[in-house]
Amino acid sequence: MKKENKKQSSEQLSSFGGVGGGFLVVLGGGESGVGTALLGKAKGYNVFVSDKGKIKEKYKQVLIHNAIEWEDEKHSESEILKADIVMKSPGIPDKAPLVKQIRKHKIPVISEIEFASKFTKATIVGITGSNGKTTTATLTQHILKQQLNVGLAGNIGDSFAKQVLEDDFKNYVLEISSFQLDDIIDFKPKIAVITNITPDHLDRYDYQFENYIASKFRIAINQTKDDYLIYDADDKAIANHLKNNPVQSTLLPFSLTKTIENGAYLDQQNIIITIDNNQIIMPTTKLALEGKHNIKNAMAASTVAHLLKIRKQTIRESLENFQGVEHRLEQVLKINKVQYINDSKATNVNATYYALESMDAPTVWIVGGTDKGNNYEELFQFVNEKVKAIICLGVDNEKLMRTFGNMVDNIIETQFMSEAVKIAYKIAEAGDNVLLSPACASFDLFENYEDRGRQFKNAVRNL
Ligand code: ADP
Repeated sequence: MKKENKKQSSEQLSSFGGVGGGFLVVLGGGESGVGTALLGKAKGYNVFVSDKGKIKEKYKQVLIHNAIEWEDEKHSESEILKADIVMKSPGIPDKAPLVKQIRKHKIPVISEIEFASKFTKATIVGITGSNGKTTTATLTQHILKQQLNVGLAGNIGDSFAKQVLEDDFKNYVLEISSFQLDDIIDFKPKIAVITNITPDHLDRYDYQFENYIASKFRIAINQTKDDYLIYDADDKAIANHLKNNPVQSTLLPFSLTKTIENGAYLDQQNIIITIDNNQIIMPTTKLALEGKHNIKNAMAASTVAHLLKIRKQTIRESLENFQGVEHRLEQVLKINKVQYINDSKATNVNATYYALESMDAPTVWIVGGTDKGNNYEELFQFVNEKVKAIICLGVDNEKLMRTFGNMVDNIIETQFMSEAVKIAYKIAEAGDNVLLSPACASFDLFENYEDRGRQFKNAVRNL
């Protein structure tokens, strides 16, 4: 089914790679939408941006300044259905009635990465996965930029489309969500990375984990044996899918548990990466980032760097001085010998699993928010071993109180970040950690995970 779709769409799109001139409708006036609009206009398309919500002022100004037509708080369906091609922002689900209409009219729907990649000859490194995309993409760019001209885009910073238009880097590291991958047709990264796959966003995938896995694997769908797929060989979902759905790509797995001949593995305290008999050895003791998950992220990023012929010494040094990304196991402050750690980006159980695993001292754990149907069982072992108190921070804390109530002596709930931090301060003793790692989305009490993380850091600084 997917294959047929692809063929049909490729034919429909045959003229799309060259100079434009067609009518490009961009659905969604955010970073990727406005970037696509600018690139589309520069390439000769007639462009119309339509957003059912409100377009942010800064983006409106860009559209007005560039004489690009737009509307917000509505979709003018009759106009939109005249499109030759539609770029759909990844936030808009396929179930949206307008998208269904567009598909019914057989108008090709693509994502920003599909559109922008047509207009660059750069080498593309595409990074997807359930957790670790931002960390791995940022780390990869950090290593590559020591020797190469390289942009970082996707869900990070300026859109890929805008960078293709304005900067024209020779290489790009792209952080790519499954939603972006759902609407690719010919997009083909030279190097693809799948960091891991655990259930997330299942509401967009008919609650079928297999559909979500297949969506992630679309990153390799157009790859040939001259391209590379780097992936976590310890991840059962990935390994099973690959077994049943082989890809053309040259495989470079990484593993913490087994020896890998071509790829990366852990030998005691060393990461060993081998590609075509060329080996690089890096001590994990010198990694700037902590936690097993970050060893995996380092393996993935270094394998990319090794493939792109970055000097071994440069890779080693870059791993040692990489400072990490805000809101991901971010060390905030030490107060009275208590370390405060901001892991607000942990919006699912798997991310929190690695946060708790990496705790090397008794921990006061702040958890909670919008529960996405979480199963907390995999955390029990760490909670029993390391967590001395739990502070539940959400509108509805009932499930957390019920799940963990018998596991720790101290479990408290609150709806305020400042109060959560004050309680943690009272409970924690010298040598302890206070960890915000919510395992839940933030939207019940906060604007987003950044807002949650910033409020945590402010509360800590105000102690
Ligand atoms: P993404 O961009 O995929 O959301 P991030 O790098 O922003 O990933 O990290 C999200 C959360 O997952 C953070 O809490 C981080 O500490 C954790 N994390 C990072 N890398 C991994 C990994 N390889 N496996 C599991 N969790 C990870």
